[in-house]
Amino acid sequence: MDIEAIRNEFPILHQEINGKPLVYFDNAATTQKPNAVIQALSDYYEGYNSNIHRGIHTLAEKATKAYEATRTSLQAFLNTKESEEIIFTKGTTESINLVAATYGRQNVKEGDEIIVSGMEHHSNIVPWQILAEEKGASIKVIPVKENGELDYDHYLTQLNSSTKIVAVNHASNSMGTINPIKDIIKAAHDVGAKVLIDGAQASAHLPIDVQDLDCDFYAISAHKFYGPTGTGALYGKRQLLEAMPPYQGGGEMIKDVSFESTTYNDIPYKFEAGTPNIADVVAFKAAIEFIENTGKVSMAKYELELLQYATEAVSSIKDIRLIGTSPNKVSVLSFVMEGVHHFDIGQMLDARGVAVRTGHHCTQPLMDRYGIEGTVRASFAVYNTINEIDQMVEGLERIVKFMK
Ligand code: PMP
Repeated sequence: MDIEAIRNEFPILHQEINGKPLVYFDNAATTQKPNAVIQALSDYYEGYNSNIHRGIHTLAEKATKAYEATRTSLQAFLNTKESEEIIFTKGTTESINLVAATYGRQNVKEGDEIIVSGMEHHSNIVPWQILAEEKGASIKVIPVKENGELDYDHYLTQLNSSTKIVAVNHASNSMGTINPIKDIIKAAHDVGAKVLIDGAQASAHLPIDVQDLDCDFYAISAHKFYGPTGTGALYGKRQLLEAMPPYQGGGEMIKDVSFESTTYNDIPYKFEAGTPNIADVVAFKAAIEFIENTGKVSMAKYELELLQYATEAVSSIKDIRLIGTSPNKVSVLSFVMEGVHHFDIGQMLDARGVAVRTGHHCTQPLMDRYGIEGTVRASFAVYNTINEIDQMVEGLERIVKFMK
C-alpha cells in the first residue's frame, strides 16, 4: 500500500502541533476523514440539500437516492440479507439504546438475566442497567482474564434459560482484544437468548458478516471508520425488527395517523422518526468506499504491523506495563507507566505533537478490574507510520528520564 498517497487524502494530517508534525494516534476515539468524505458533505449542501422521502421535486429525489445508496453500501459492508435490516442512528450508542428500549422492554421480564462482558464500553452497559432496573432483571458480567481476553468457559456457565440478551463488543476499545463472538452468539442461541454485538471498534479493522455470525443485532458508528460524526447504524434481523415497537414517534415512521390510533411504517422507516442526519449519512458512503477501495484486509494487515512494532518498542521501555496482551487484537495499544499519571504522559506527548488518549476510555469497570484509573492508549489507522511510532517512543523515553 502507498501510505504516503493515503496520507495525502487526509488534509488534517498535514499540520504541526506545538511545533512538531501531528502524530494522530487517537483513532479508536475517532478516525480522521478523507477528502472524499469532506467533499461528499459539501457536495450535498452545495448541490442537493433537501429533505428526503417526502418531496417529489428533483432535489428531494436526489437526496433520497443518495441517502438510500448508503444503506445499500452498508448492506454489502455488513453482508446483511436485506437493506431494510439497516437502520440509521446517531451511532453505536443510539443503536444499543434503541434495542434496549424496544426489544428489551418488550421481551425482558422480572427475574430475567442480561449478560454483558467486563470489557464493555459504558454505552453497552448503562442502557442494559436502565432496562434491568425498570424490569427487575439482573446483569451478569463475563470476567476478563489477566491478558485481556474474556473468560469464555465462565461465560458458558452463566448462560441459562433466564438469559434473554447477551451484549458484547466485537473488539475492545481499551485493549483491542478481539472477542470470539461467533462462539458467544452460538452458545447464547442454544439457550434461546438474543445477541447484540457492539461493532464500534471492529468496523475499521475486521471483516463483518452478520449472516455468518448469525448475530441478532450489530451496532456501528461511521466516525470510527473514516466517516462523519453523528451517524451510524443498527443491523437487526428482519423478524426481530418487525416485531419490535418503535423507538421514537414522529414523522416518517408512520403509515396512518389519527387521534384514535396510528399504524407504523415498514422497517427500516419505523425506526427513523423525523428528519434524519441526511448530510452525514450521504457522506458515510464515501467512507465505506474509501475502505473498499483501499482494501480492508490490506489495511488491517498494515495496522497490525504498526501494532507489533509499537508493542515491542513500548514494552521495552522501563516501567511500562501493557494492559491487554492477547495476541488476538485490533490495532490498539494500552499501557501504564509506573509512578507517572496517564494524564501527564498524554500532556507531555501532546507537547511533542503526539495525540494519544488517556483515561478510562468509558470502560471504568475494566479499569477497576486492573486496579488502575486509566491508561495511555495509542490506536493506529491506515495513515499512521513507523516513523510516527518512533516519535511517540522517543517521547516516552524522554518522559521516563525526566520523571524519574
Ligand atoms: N462501543 C465501543 C467499543 C466504542 O469504542 C465506542 C466509542 N468510543 C462506543 C461503543 C460508542 O460509540 P459512539 O460514541 O460513536 O456512539
